[in-house]
Amino acid sequence: MVRTATLAFCISVHAPGLSYRDDARTRVGGAASSAATTAVTLRFPRASLRLSRVCVRAVRDEDSAREEVTEWKRLLRTTEEGRANTLNDLSLSLHEQERHAAPIEIARRTLTDAELSKGIAVLWFRRNLRVHDNEALTIARRCMAVLPVYIFDPAHYGTVLSEEGFQKTGPHKAHFIHSAVEALRKALRGKASELFTAIGPAESKLIPMLQALTQYELPIYLIGCRDVSEQGMTEERAVRAAIAAQPWAAQCTMEFVMDGTLFDPDQLPRDAAALTTFQSFEQATQALGLRVSEHAFAFEESDRLGPLPNPQPRLGTLPDLASELGVEGLCEPLNWPFPDSRAVYTFRGGEPSGLERMEEYIFDWDELSSYAEDNRFLGSTQTSSKLSAWFACGALSVRAYFRQILDFEKRMIPKITQPEELQLAKESLDQMKRNLVFREYLMLRHCVCGPALPLYVTEELSEEEEIKLDAWIEGETGFAYIDAMMSELKATGWIAHVSRMCVASFLFHDLGVRNTRVGIEYFASVLVDYEEAPTVFFWNRAAASPRIDWLEHALYHDPDGWYTASWCRTLCEVPVPEIFTFHHDDSAETRKVLGMSGVKVGYNFIRPIILPDGSLNPARTQSRSDDNALVH
Ligand SMILES: Cc1cc2nc3c(=O)[nH]c(=O)nc-3n(C[C@H](O)[C@H](O)[C@H](O)COP(=O)(O)OP(=O)(O)OC[C@H]3O[C@@H](n4cnc5c(N)ncnc54)[C@H](O)[C@@H]3O)c2cc1C
Repeated sequence: MVRTATLAFCISVHAPGLSYRDDARTRVGGAASSAATTAVTLRFPRASLRLSRVCVRAVRDEDSAREEVTEWKRLLRTTEEGRANTLNDLSLSLHEQERHAAPIEIARRTLTDAELSKGIAVLWFRRNLRVHDNEALTIARRCMAVLPVYIFDPAHYGTVLSEEGFQKTGPHKAHFIHSAVEALRKALRGKASELFTAIGPAESKLIPMLQALTQYELPIYLIGCRDVSEQGMTEERAVRAAIAAQPWAAQCTMEFVMDGTLFDPDQLPRDAAALTTFQSFEQATQALGLRVSEHAFAFEESDRLGPLPNPQPRLGTLPDLASELGVEGLCEPLNWPFPDSRAVYTFRGGEPSGLERMEEYIFDWDELSSYAEDNRFLGSTQTSSKLSAWFACGALSVRAYFRQILDFEKRMIPKITQPEELQLAKESLDQMKRNLVFREYLMLRHCVCGPALPLYVTEELSEEEEIKLDAWIEGETGFAYIDAMMSELKATGWIAHVSRMCVASFLFHDLGVRNTRVGIEYFASVLVDYEEAPTVFFWNRAAASPRIDWLEHALYHDPDGWYTASWCRTLCEVPVPEIFTFHHDDSAETRKVLGMSGVKVGYNFIRPIILPDGSLNPARTQSRSDDNALVH
């Protein structure tokens, strides 16, 4: 075997010299490629386009390099051809199999400005933790007085476990929401208002607040956004029932709106047949002449929210995540998730950081214009926008993002002169817009057809399935590529879309844990951007479609094994393809490669959890405690 050295060295300088990133990756003997690559990228904020990209490729063995490039091009072509149909196929394959719960009404504004101006509002923030483009906020400000409120229900975090025994919101998302609420409180103070917080079930906290306002004998409006998750709808029903049971119920009106839709909710197709596939949804929106809503619920810098009513509840401090919400896995005493230097992005909750990330992604770092190409490689900040975390808790408006994309298209695309760059930029923008419309499709399908139920739910997992599931969660399956992705997920709360698909398929098809609910609930607890509709959809889809060939996946998305080695450090000297395949390859050559790389399976790297036929590896159960003590 020809052992080669790959050196990838990347320096990014962010003008005007205030920030500087030096990111050097060195890996010896870890690549199939025989090329040494040096890439220097200069980026200037708001000077917008990448000014210079110098790529020097010293090719030592031209033949193998050429072969590799041809193979990459073939793979790229295949995915490009596939891409056009993928989103449609995704929904088609599930249409027949899925069962759905009761549909959810698309909530719309019903109160007029005149009615609102004669009443007092309790503005209940839920998954709309922002001031910009916030419909509930713009409705509430028409009232005589506004009481903004946010409620942390410990049952939505760690005090009540999910059916499969996971905490409902893990450290990454809990911390993200906590920071978003803190930022919202600050923003509302800037609007001459306040954010009152409480800890407990929403109905028990809202009723006293509403009741205190009934003394004025004016209409009371409870204004909020509809959270279409099962948890959100259960909470809304409990609040509705609690209000209906009060003697002052007739004085109080609940006004809920949909938040975060791209199109105007009044115009969205309500017919389930139009939602059978993504293509039929696209056709329906085109037939209806739908365009992404230009209408923003503007709240200008200088705007102020209505005065606070009296009496006011206790202001409330933000809860301690561990002791008051029961969140586990935080590092004390700061109550943050443990930081990991390998994280592709450090998520900071709150509207200002969401707006900053959007600006940075589109304009400052000009990453959007190469989205179609970048989203192939794992382990890089550049692969995608990472905005899903802000969308999920409503700290950033999807519509605002879409409008920024249109703005970029109008201002920047005409300035691109190179035909190849132009082609890539157009493809990238189209792909990003299509993904956002797909998100809208999933949300609408969730409401109109009813939330999809997880496929193949079993009463209880067998002991063997439990062992496999534990190994998968902990990133200890012994399949390095899978372990890398699962370790990244656990450590950072985020992995790329392709990784999510691959690990879901691996659990279901390769490990044979044929119960999508465990995967869905684990993702719910660990993902910083968890949303019910996409998670259930993609898990069901992973179960209903053929197995993903994870080896092909690895060779395409981590061609030099750098990503895998960064999460399984013991393997940092193992070359491709052995880094992906050694667990079931006992050939003399592989043993030699492992020996030269200082790896011995069962000693400093964990044995595979399954044998090649898919059955549980007895070596793992016998020496489980030893193997589990191994560090990647
Ligand atoms: C098993 C599984 C579970 C998932 N769970 C979630 C989840 O809980 N929350 C979530 O937001 N997405 C989920 N997705 C969809 C997708 O993986 C994420 O939206 C995406 O990885 C978010 O990263 P990003 O913001 O950098 O995306 P980008 O690629 O930058 O895309 C921008 C935005 O477009 C939307 N988007 C992009 N791709 C998709 C897609 N395939 N489906 C739906 N929307 C998309 C998202 O809102 C995303 O923020 C899941 C996918 C799989 C396979």
